[in-house]
Amino acid sequence: MKIKLKQFIPKECCLKCDGCCRFIDKKSQWVPRIAKSEILKILKSGFPQHLFSKLNKNDNQLNLVNYKGINICAFLFPQTNRCKIYNNRPFDCQLYPFILMRNREKIFLSVHLACPFVKENLEKREFKNYLTYLKEFLNKKGISSFIRKNIFLAQDYDNFQDEIKLLFCLDNKKLSLHENKASCVQR
Ligand code: SF4
Ligand code: SF4
Repeated sequence: MKIKLKQFIPKECCLKCDGCCRFIDKKSQWVPRIAKSEILKILKSGFPQHLFSKLNKNDNQLNLVNYKGINICAFLFPQTNRCKIYNNRPFDCQLYPFILMRNREKIFLSVHLACPFVKENLEKREFKNYLTYLKEFLNKKGISSFIRKNIFLAQDYDNFQDEIKLLFCLDNKKLSLHENKASCVQR
């Protein structure tokens, strides 16, 4: 199944921004995770296996390379900010600056406030409209089963609480979405 998520941030904004695809720490938690099914698609298009790291049995990450002293994704053209696999990029990359976050038995959708476009648009109607779209999208049968199968995509971002805004929670079993914020923020 090919996942194609409508983007909130206009492409031209991301192309002018260096906030993504670069990482201070090689072991950064923000390095995108990738499902096995997504890796297979990229391998089929001719890229080699060594561009991915296995973190454990089912959990894989994109590999980083050093570019002028910075760790960048091996699929980034650093001078143009373009992605070499844009049409096949992982769901984790498509979703960012939104992130799946795990806390105990629950999965939440949050947004990373480090993204300048998000910061500027957080209170706008367009942001709220996009959230409505995202809720419907994540609740689609194929997408919810993809997330359940690749549950490592939802991580614990406890060390980044100040940079993250919790948006809504998804139920682990059915991935139905709850509006009850009080139950979402219980820890
Ligand atoms: S930080 Fe935000 S605006 Fe910048 S490249 Fe990433 S998603 Fe785009
Ligand atoms: S796969 Fe593409 S979008 Fe994802 S981190 Fe690498 S360069 Fe960025």
